[in-house]
Amino acid sequence: MKGMMNLIRKTKSVCPECFKMIDAFIVEEHGKVYMNKECDKHGKFKLLLSFHPRYYKDLDEFYFSLFGKEEKEKKFYVL
Ligand SMILES: [Zn+2]
Repeated sequence: MKGMMNLIRKTKSVCPECFKMIDAFIVEEHGKVYMNKECDKHGKFKLLLSFHPRYYKDLDEFYFSLFGKEEKEKKFYVL
């Protein structure tokens, strides 16, 4: 990793343009939590998930409760 980004974990998401399943990276950058993802056709997307990284874990649990099939991705936790 370079710069100020701090990888929290890797997960899966979908491209907002074509809904293809793509790799996504949850990162902490300048005190905020973002999801970075890249579609080979539609380029890079960056979503702001939280202004408060210390509250992010709760949001993360909520996320997993919505997307239960992604549960296996929890093994990518590096916190
Ligand atoms: Zn796409």
